[in-house]
Amino acid sequence: MMRAWVDHTEVGMGMAIADDNGRLFEQFFDSYLQELYIFHPTTLAFEAINRAARQNLGYIDEQLKRMTVADLVPEFILETFESLLQPLVRGDQEQVVIDTYIRRQDGSLYPGEVNIQLFGYNGEKHCLALINDLSKVEGLEDCLREKEMTLNAVMDAAQDAVIMLDGSGNVTYWNRAAEDLFGFSREEILGKELHNLITVEGWTAEVYGRAFREFQASGGGVLVGNIIEVTAKKKDGREVEVALSLSALKIQNSWHAIGIVRDISQQNQSKRELESSRQKYLDLAENAPIGILACDLEGNITFVNQRALDILGSPGSEETRKINLLTFPLLIKHGFSRNLAECLQKNTASSFELSYKSKWNRQVWLKVYTKPQISQGAAVGAQIIIDDISERKQLEEKLLNLSITDNLTEAYNRRYFIQRLEAEIDRNRRAGNPFSVIMADIDHFKTINDRLGHDRGDVALKKITSEMIRKIRKMDTLARWGGDEFMLLTAETTVEQAGVVAERIRGSLCDLNIPEVGIVTASFGVVAGYAGDTVDSIVQRVDGALYQAKSAGRNCVKLVDAFSLQPPEQRQSGQ
Ligand code: GH3
Ligand code: MG
Repeated sequence: MMRAWVDHTEVGMGMAIADDNGRLFEQFFDSYLQELYIFHPTTLAFEAINRAARQNLGYIDEQLKRMTVADLVPEFILETFESLLQPLVRGDQEQVVIDTYIRRQDGSLYPGEVNIQLFGYNGEKHCLALINDLSKVEGLEDCLREKEMTLNAVMDAAQDAVIMLDGSGNVTYWNRAAEDLFGFSREEILGKELHNLITVEGWTAEVYGRAFREFQASGGGVLVGNIIEVTAKKKDGREVEVALSLSALKIQNSWHAIGIVRDISQQNQSKRELESSRQKYLDLAENAPIGILACDLEGNITFVNQRALDILGSPGSEETRKINLLTFPLLIKHGFSRNLAECLQKNTASSFELSYKSKWNRQVWLKVYTKPQISQGAAVGAQIIIDDISERKQLEEKLLNLSITDNLTEAYNRRYFIQRLEAEIDRNRRAGNPFSVIMADIDHFKTINDRLGHDRGDVALKKITSEMIRKIRKMDTLARWGGDEFMLLTAETTVEQAGVVAERIRGSLCDLNIPEVGIVTASFGVVAGYAGDTVDSIVQRVDGALYQAKSAGRNCVKLVDAFSLQPPEQRQSGQ
């Protein structure tokens, strides 16, 4: 027999059950976390109420002993309750569930889902009621609702389209960016099959079906976890290029797909434009009428155009790329590598000219421009422009030769001789290098002109000049001083050595039988230069020596004596 109330404090208001099983039940009943009530099916009087229920209600045992179910549920009168329990009593139903409000001791109400079952004990029927306090569930629901709203707000603020499909391919989520991107509003698309609304290039019904079946089975497939780029059709029929990244989410035993979709039309367009402009520049560089190369920091060639290959005489770009611009011996030898290394190290542009014989034996004068290629503030390589300036150089050389050469004889002219003499005087002043000057004048030249005519005279002048050039060293400077007069500057030569040179020339002229002219002789004056000399002083002195040779009967060499080699003041004191 069930005892209505138990008075010992540990169990509180509970049923007294005599045996050990009963004690176990009693303990379980009282410490069960949900609210449990046992009451009589007809009187509705409480027979036992567990601790969770007592705590929520706030009544003490004494009060509960005198109360019925109707005291806790204000909306029901006894009769209503009886009819509610009828299906249980008749055995039609195993349980009755009602949602109602329950009144606490302090008068406050809380919503509860009341689950009532009937059970027999010791030949008597009892009602067991289990209460779910719905206020706690409602709190949870509020919390979830709040979270969902926050999530929706975040999703709507997202730049990328976020979409979600359930296990059958129906759209279950569609954010604002998705509306903007595809043109379908949420109302239009939620619950619909996505692939029926948005077609994707290359995704036939068959491909789509296969991929989706695979996804449904495993939550995986080729698309999941990868970013793929596809062209999709929007609601208005226009195409849009998108990057799609898919992930899988298992909800209630079925796979859902979450897709993040980004419009990359603009980005792709920019990429294409960039590529096309890059190609344009490459074409331009490739076909430029000037040599263009590029290299990295190590001197490896990264670009070379056709004109550069032509300038270097290279058979092709592959051959040329084998050359390292910083270590190739010919480039080091001509100073190119040093200039380039400086450009890369100091981050400065430079230009220089060099005469270069390429690996493919092409001799060329180059004008080179080097410019560092900067990326994020640091040099990553260099751009090199090479121009073949051989023609210009040859022209310059020709002009220079013209400007320093005597028209008739092709010996140097007077102006150039003076320049060279000034330079030699300077060298002598600085380093004490000895030098001498020889002046020659053809003997009785006037008579040649008179006898054979001016043209024959010219021929004779030319022959005499080339014979003199044959007899001198490369480093000596022979110039036509004017008329039938010549000057010869002999560097690193004492006056005695110069006398020997003059004598050699004189002798060779005597041996030179000029056709239709015959033997032509010349007289020579020879002087040494000394510290303090000027062009004028030397010319004056050598002219004096020549005069002496003429006076001595012509066809001879006169050296100024050692005395006259001394500076003027010493000469004076010696007199
Ligand atoms: P010398 O020197 O032995 O005293 O007698 P010279 O007859 O050679 O007299 P001088 O040196 O004073 O005269 C030089 C002559 O050279 C004068 C001129 O007729 C001649 N002459 C000067 N320039 C040219 C030239 O360009 N062509 C030719 N054919 N003759 C020239
Ligand atoms: Mg003469």
